[in-house]
Amino acid sequence: MERDSWRNSDPAGGCRYVTWIGAYLLAALDPADRTEFLAHTRTCSRCRDEIVVLAEIPSILARGFRGCS
Ligand SMILES: [Zn+2]
Repeated sequence: MERDSWRNSDPAGGCRYVTWIGAYLLAALDPADRTEFLAHTRTCSRCRDEIVVLAEIPSILARGFRGCS
């Protein structure tokens, strides 16, 4: 049976950088990694779209909390 090891570095089926997005939004990337990631997002619409979706979560939560007050 083949190991398909390339899949391990490509968990989302499209781009290995998608696993960096959470760390980027939490400011957890090293400066060098951050620079590399930002350079990548200029050429990868998948990562840009994912950043927009994930970056929306705090504002969605904020709207929810405002609605309760
Ligand atoms: Zn990407």
